[in-house]
Amino acid sequence: MTYPHLLEPLDLGFTTLKNRVLMGSMHTGLEDGRKHFDRMAEYFAERARGEVGLIVTGGYAPNIEGWAKPFAGTLATSGAARRHSVVTKAVHAEGGKIALQILHTGRYGYQPFCVAPSRIQSPISPFTPRELSERGIERQIRAFIRCAKLAREAGYDGVEVMGSEGYFINQFLVSATNQRTDGWGGNYANRMRLAIEILTRMREAVGPDFIIIYRLSMLDLIPNGSSWDEVLELARGVVKAGATLINTGIGWHEARIPTIATSVPRAGFAWVTQKLRSQLRAEGIMTPLITSNRINSPEVAEGVLADGSADMVSMARPFLADPEFVKKARQGRADEINTCIACNQACLDHAFEQKIASCLVNPRAAHEQEIRVIPLAASKQARKKIAVVGAGPAGLAASTTLAERGHEVHLFDSAAVIGGQFNMARQIPGKEEFSETLRYFARRLEITGVQLHLNRRVAAPDLMGFDEVLLATGVTPRNPRIPGQDEGAARGQVLSYIDVLLHKKPVGQTVALIGAGGIGFDVAEYLAEPGAEQGHSLTKDAPAWRREWGIGDPVESRAGLVRPLPASPARSIYLLQRKAGKLGAGLGKTTGWIHRAALKMKAVQMLAGVNYEAITPEGLWVSYGKERIDRQLLACDTIVLCAGQEPLRELEAPLKAAGRSVHLLGGAQEAGELDAKRAILQGTRLGCSL
Ligand code: FAD
Ligand code: NAP
Ligand code: SF4
Repeated sequence: MTYPHLLEPLDLGFTTLKNRVLMGSMHTGLEDGRKHFDRMAEYFAERARGEVGLIVTGGYAPNIEGWAKPFAGTLATSGAARRHSVVTKAVHAEGGKIALQILHTGRYGYQPFCVAPSRIQSPISPFTPRELSERGIERQIRAFIRCAKLAREAGYDGVEVMGSEGYFINQFLVSATNQRTDGWGGNYANRMRLAIEILTRMREAVGPDFIIIYRLSMLDLIPNGSSWDEVLELARGVVKAGATLINTGIGWHEARIPTIATSVPRAGFAWVTQKLRSQLRAEGIMTPLITSNRINSPEVAEGVLADGSADMVSMARPFLADPEFVKKARQGRADEINTCIACNQACLDHAFEQKIASCLVNPRAAHEQEIRVIPLAASKQARKKIAVVGAGPAGLAASTTLAERGHEVHLFDSAAVIGGQFNMARQIPGKEEFSETLRYFARRLEITGVQLHLNRRVAAPDLMGFDEVLLATGVTPRNPRIPGQDEGAARGQVLSYIDVLLHKKPVGQTVALIGAGGIGFDVAEYLAEPGAEQGHSLTKDAPAWRREWGIGDPVESRAGLVRPLPASPARSIYLLQRKAGKLGAGLGKTTGWIHRAALKMKAVQMLAGVNYEAITPEGLWVSYGKERIDRQLLACDTIVLCAGQEPLRELEAPLKAAGRSVHLLGGAQEAGELDAKRAILQGTRLGCSL
């Protein structure tokens, strides 16, 4: 397939972008501090080489008040601008273009100097902002202008002014956070004055031949957010003030509706950009509009451009997953793209945990200097014959990396398909994207020449003729040994999560799930979702998804909020854990709340501090706390064991006994805290080192 709309250049008058792809701003942590400029240069240069039309950096504060956290990346001096020039030069050397995002976080700042239009604390920061005086507002405006001028001095092709997602400028726009009574509050003209003043004065300061992108919040998804008329008025004002491009944003960070998680349908918000674009076009406003959120394949991107939803597509995480996304699409190699599965596990979750971001499916992202795939010829190493046992994420990452470097690699799996546990993960409603990782690895095995042996359960003697043996045999479910469990299993009343997800064993109308880790939550979502077991409702249609989360037409309902109307659950479910405290505490920082909210909508009963006393034909007997009080029968037809896992490494001992050294990786090495992020990272690192 070719992508005529996606690959079409975009003429901005004073400059031309080579295609319609914007790499959206992402905080990787490389922005903070002074020491990462070389690393950042390599990270962005790789994306420029991959032919992205315009890159936007992570957010830089224009001053201390705008910091996202203490000592966050700031561009406020010529000295800082000089340090940035290593990045702009590296991108330009690869034929790319790059804009700096100016991010003033306002009351979202996780730091004591934060400021806002009014003294109203946000639900996502412990710091109450200082209310700005009029002079204080003027100081912030000047900081924005200075930052844009310094960006130009540093060699950037433009700036993106962050005006959405609930940050500083957005806080002025909305009466929920702007309760001022002076010329910066009250009516909408006053509330949007800050945005207009910044853009007008910025355009004057940087001249006509510098890209200014304004990131405009189209759909706040918070109570008392902007109305559609206000969004339109702002868009008109922004264009008049000199914006080159409008990038459209969805949802404030405090909104309780998922906007980018894997359960959001692909291109799930492009319809809002389309609404805005058609209205502006009808008024003769031709400024290009950029759409974003859950666009992760060239087909989807091409679709939203072809149907007139937008003039350009912003993708952020997909460029962590694959820096060559655009190049592969242009060369007819879209099937080789490593697709972002929107898990957030190594990107956003890392940002919130103050770690450098990376990518679950591509651990080299933002770690290019550290993880290098060096061909054997270049390192003068001998070619080895290597066996990799287990074609789960760890084995796939290791074998393809080893083969890419030039080793002879044989990959064995006892199953008929590659993927290991990912074949269960992709059954979960909202995790369909995990299939893309398997598609990617299947193609990669072909390209790198790994010799794949499926339906081959190997034993130690099979592995004697190899120079190196890697055991990536994964895990086996933990047996919680509840009294009566074996009898229940014989009756078909007790199942493992593998019986449910892989073997599709029948499940009754009332179910108790033993264990509330990632898998317990996933199985609960799978069993609660009508039709999931038949596999036909796995891809939720976008209108149904919007109804479920309460997303309405912003023309009819302010900020796009309506009453959520979740579908009735397929069955009654108890989700249980032994420890006290909130269920799902160990789930991802940026996605755990979504899983909890989804299960609440499906009326799943979450019980903590439970002791499993016995399983009888009537159901599961539980008691509570150390004292084992309140013994109670949970009358359920089926009990599903999701009680964690143990490493499966039965081949290790016989191989060692035969004098062979083995490398353990993924679940085979350590099952505790195992996830695909660790499995792929370990596989890749080992693949680079042998
Ligand atoms: P596995 O995936 O377990 O693969 C091991 C492979 O080895 C299997 O294919 C097996 O057939 C093969 N094998 C074993 N013994 C032999 C032998 N003797 N000979 C040949 N082959 C053998 N992780 C996340 O990060 N995010 C998620 O959202 C997520 N969701 C999940 C949802 C579900 C429902 C499940 C079950 C898991 C989920 N995981 C998730 C966990 C993730 O899938 C695992 O951490 C990951 O698959 C572990 O990779 P691995 O390569 O170590 O092992
Ligand atoms: P897990 O997260 O370790 O959870 C295991 C659950 O079983 C816990 O709730 C634990 O809670 C319970 N448990 C442990 N030992 C038990 C016992 N002897 N008897 C009864 N209950 C017991 O493991 P998992 O759910 O199997 O997931 C495996 C890995 O896959 C995880 O590390 C996870 O990161 C990954 N995964 C991630 C996602 C994701 O969305 N990111 C989704 C699925 C899986 P108590 O001890 O309190 O009972
Ligand atoms: Fe996408 Fe997950 Fe990688 Fe983040 S970690 S870029 S969400 S695949």
